[in-house]
Formats: sequence, C-alpha cells, structure tokens
Amino acid sequence: MKKGIAIFWFRNDLRLTDNPGLLSALEYESILPIYILDEVNPGDHHMGQASKWWLNQSLQHLNQGLDNAMSFYSGDPQLILNDLIKRFNVTAVFWNRCYEPFAIIRDKVIKSDLQSRDIHVASFNASLLWEPWTVQKIDGGLFEVFTPFYRKGCLKSQKPREPLETAKPHSLVTDDKAKNIESLQLLSGFPWYEKLQEQWVVSEQGAFDRLGAFIQHGLPTYKDKRNFPSQNGVSRLSPYLRFGQISPHQVWQMVKSSAKGRHVDHFCSELGWREFSYYLLYHHPDLPEENLKSEYDDFPWRDHDEFLQKWQTGMTGIPIVDAGMRELWQTGYMHNRLRMIVGSFLVKNLMIHWRWGEKWFWDTLLDADLANNSASWQWVAGSGADSAPYFRIFNPMLQAEKFDPECDYIRQYVPELAKLSNQFIRCP
Ligand code: FAD
Repeated sequence: MKKGIAIFWFRNDLRLTDNPGLLSALEYESILPIYILDEVNPGDHHMGQASKWWLNQSLQHLNQGLDNAMSFYSGDPQLILNDLIKRFNVTAVFWNRCYEPFAIIRDKVIKSDLQSRDIHVASFNASLLWEPWTVQKIDGGLFEVFTPFYRKGCLKSQKPREPLETAKPHSLVTDDKAKNIESLQLLSGFPWYEKLQEQWVVSEQGAFDRLGAFIQHGLPTYKDKRNFPSQNGVSRLSPYLRFGQISPHQVWQMVKSSAKGRHVDHFCSELGWREFSYYLLYHHPDLPEENLKSEYDDFPWRDHDEFLQKWQTGMTGIPIVDAGMRELWQTGYMHNRLRMIVGSFLVKNLMIHWRWGEKWFWDTLLDADLANNSASWQWVAGSGADSAPYFRIFNPMLQAEKFDPECDYIRQYVPELAKLSNQFIRCP
C-alpha cells in the first residue's frame, strides 16, 4: 500500500467495473474521488441539456456506489485540483484519458504542472479499444477510409484487452467544502426531462442489463434488423458508452464470448466506427468546426431560421423526417437510420449547414459525443472522411418505404397521420 491520499478524477468513465485509473488509485492509503464540471475549457461544446440530465443521473448512482463519498465541483479543473492538493496534502492524481481536443490540451497542462511539483500523475485508457496514435498505416500515414482503418489498422493490431476486475474502494475521503450534485445545476428549472426518466435506467447496472437484453434479443439478428427503426434491432448502448457506465472492452468481450458469426462481426464493426470517429477527431482536432474536405468551404449554404426550426421541432411535413426528429425530442435518442435521413434532409434538401444539425443534436441527444457527432455530420454532408458522396441525396419517401415498410415508426411518432393507409402516410 502506497502512503498518502490519491485523487481519482472521474470524467467519461462513470463506473466501478473495468476502470484502470480507479484501480491504480486504490493502491494508495486513501482516495479522494471527485467529479469536476469543467466550465472553462470546452469552448463551444459545453455539455448540452440532454447530456446534463444523463450526467446528473449517472453521478447520483455512482455516488451511491461509493457510499456517498464523492466530492463535486464546477469551474476550472486546474485551480480545483491545486486547491485540493494543498488542503489534503495529496501525493498522487489519477484519471482515465479523454480525447476531446480541449481535454487533451487541458490534461497535458495539468499533468506537466503536477509533475513539476513532484506529484505523481498517471492516466489510463478506459474508453477506446485502440487509442488513435496506436493505429497506423504501414507507411506511417493516416487512414481516411473506414474499412482499411478497421480491418488493417485495428483488427490486425493488438486485440482489445480483457475487462478488469471491479474496484472495491476503501478509505474514501470526502471534502466538506465540495458542492453537492444539485448545486452543479445540471437540471434546468423546467422539468422537460421527466419523460426520459421513464425510458432510461441510467446506471452501471442499467448498462449491463441493456447489454444482456441486447445479446439475447437483438444480437442474433443484428445485421438484418439494425436498419429498421420500429424493430428492436439495435443495442441503445450509446449514452452508456458516452458517459462510461460501460466500457467498449466490456461490450466487445461480452458480445464476442456470447456468439460468433456475421451478426457479431457486424456489431463489432459498429464499435469500430466509434473508434474511427475518435481517430479522426484526434488527428483532425478542428473536425467539429471545419470541413475535413476544404472543397466544401465555399458551399452556398442557406440561412433559413424558419426551415431550421421546423426541422428541429419535427414539423417539416415530411413524415419520416418528422418522426425521427420527434423520437429525438421524446426519448433523447434517435435510431441511426433516422439520423442519416434527417441529416441528409437538413443538409441536402434544406441546404442548411451541417453545423446547425450538429449543434441541435449536441443539445438534445443523450449520447451527444464530440467525436461521433462531428464525424457523422461531416459524413452526412459529404465533407468528411469516407463520406456519403455529395450527389447521394436520401429520398425520404423511398427510405421510409424500405426501412419502415409497415409505417409503424411513422405511426408511433406522427400520430396525427396514424389513420392514413400505408400508401399515403409516407407522402409529404
Ligand atoms: P448500435 O447499432 O447498437 O451500435 C453499438 C455502438 O456502436 C453504438 O452505441 C455506438 O457507440 C457505436 N456506433 C454505432 N453506429 C455508429 C456510427 N455510425 N458512428 C459511430 N459509432 C457508432 N453516435 C453517438 O454515440 N453520439 C453522437 O452524438 C452521434 N451523432 C450522430 C449524428 C449523425 C448525423 C449520425 C448519422 C450518427 C450519429 N451517431 C452518434 C452514430 C450512431 O447513430 C449512434 O452511435 C447509434 O445510433 C447509437 O445507437 P445504438 O447504441 O443503438 O447503436
């Protein structure tokens, strides 16, 4: 047992299982477990409203799992850590790595400052199967296309590690001067989020239950059903992965050990898309703001507040588009097929810049994730890596015919049309 107090700084890893940073902090005499709502570094990407709700629920559960010993803060992480180090005579600080460009810069500054004062600092990988700098082409260049990235870059390199044992924290220290979760003010005054409470179990156990149910009912037909929004064909694990109630290592290993074959391979390749987004963000830190392909910089986008608002509120008059946007508003989630349809409609039919779509999703998705959201919006717009080409415009009616053949999804989310026959319900 190493002497002194170690800080464990929870970030996008809100769990006790498979948590390498937390396990290392446990080698110290006592631990001060903290969460800091960073109000200084995220720039234009302060957490959106839906994410804040998820975070609030997650922190409540995590804190209960730690006998209510967590300390909460908001503000500038560097100042907060420095204050804690002084007051508690902290000898070591541990965290799991984040990959948002602002977080990388922030963490580097904090790390070198702490090291210069002889405080032990260690960071770990808890949220990616392959960290971006470990995936390389043979000639040392960058992958720009998903399939070679995944097949030659990821699958041919080291296998994802096995999940680690569950941390059993002992000798926890709490800061009396810290805030409580409520004073982080994650929830707005208007209780819009009540409807979400009925639909999501936001906890580590909730993530495992969802994965278990998916392995039993979704995985055996994943490749065939994953594009049909009215069928229970996908995992809905994305918000849990975003906040780290479950790690991709846990998902990968549980899925791989449950079965073999094309459905498992396809599901794992979707986890690969998540890795690709993080890889792109790491190597192109301005991905959330700038077109990856600069040819798109002079595109004559339209500024049209009324069209944008109709799209946001699911009132475009295109049934499948409105159904998708209303699913998002009512559940904090949108099926991937719909994300592509509504995205294509915004960018290619309404000709509104993808950044407005990215912004709306950022605020309303429970799984809003800087890497996945910006890489996917650029994919939809055609300006990103390995993107849908600019001339491929999804026809919303044909998409509805193919992926919602019985119109169940449209009927669920656009109930005013429910009585129309399948022939007419898809029409604008
Ligand atoms: P499943 O099909 O069960 O897949 C399992 C996991 O694989 C997902 O949880 C996710 O982590 C990963 N995954 C699946 N598809 C993709 C994909 N296309 N790209 C990257 N990772 C993927 N995903 C987010 O997590 N956060 C976002 O902010 C986000 N914004 C998006 C915006 C647009 C315009 C589009 C087209 C896609 C976006 N995605 C985003 C990707 C994808 O839609 C979601 O990850 C997926 O729908 C989540 O549902 P699921 O967990 O049921 O997926």
